[in-house]
Amino acid sequence: MDDINFECTACGKCCHDLRLPLTLTEAAAWLARGGQMELLCEAIPWPVEPEAGNEQAAYKKARSAATMSGTLPVRVSVLLVAAFAGACPNLGSDMRCGIYEQRPLVCRIYPAEINPFVALAPESKACPPEAWQHTPLQRHGVLVDETTRELIGESRRASEREAALRVQLCLALGLNEAALANEGFVIYAPDSDALRAALQQVSATSADEPPAAAPWSFVSNRAATLETLLSVGATGRLSQPATDAHFRYHGYFPEEPA
Ligand code: SF4
Ligand code: SF4
Repeated sequence: MDDINFECTACGKCCHDLRLPLTLTEAAAWLARGGQMELLCEAIPWPVEPEAGNEQAAYKKARSAATMSGTLPVRVSVLLVAAFAGACPNLGSDMRCGIYEQRPLVCRIYPAEINPFVALAPESKACPPEAWQHTPLQRHGVLVDETTRELIGESRRASEREAALRVQLCLALGLNEAALANEGFVIYAPDSDALRAALQQVSATSADEPPAAAPWSFVSNRAATLETLLSVGATGRLSQPATDAHFRYHGYFPEEPA
């Protein structure tokens, strides 16, 4: 749909049951308010550079860091997310944001999309049908509001700038396992004090520094996936039923028969 109208009804539905991707600075502020954070890790085998002009590959590359899994070159991508079940801890009973002036970029941008390869689709959003009317949000596929366009640009730049730092953040916490991209995520829920210390550590380093050359390892719930990864030199293991409150494998697919 190229032309979309939108007027927020302040229903608060978009502030429930979320994993909000945050910048490093936003994450530090979220922790300081007592919020919980998670790290979502995935890795893409990257044996050769994609052809020039492959914009989707360039987008993924810019948001990941080069490293190895065994002898296989991979790129690791980490999302740093504020995680909560139910209402956001900042949401008031009147459905207003309690940190409105300091709310994260991703909240300011919603319901627009940050990923340029994802078209805005009202049916995929939490907003009720009556919100999609009145004020022009998008015309001919382009967002009307310049401020939102600028915020999206700011969010994309931060995501690129901090890609290697998010990987360093994991390594600082002793975390080095990732799901195969598009199969799921390894979800770490580190202790808040440890994450705060790790954030301070990586924030003191340059975003241009390559991540420490520590190897990464795959986790999968599919025996066939693991076998394929091992056959091309990667290291990995099958996921186990979650017994650790700080570690979880979230797969998109059921296990494949061995
Ligand atoms: S920070 Fe504010 S806008 Fe963002 S999810 Fe929480 S209550 Fe909603
Ligand atoms: S779900 Fe949509 S309409 Fe409801 S508060 Fe969020 S942005 Fe506004």
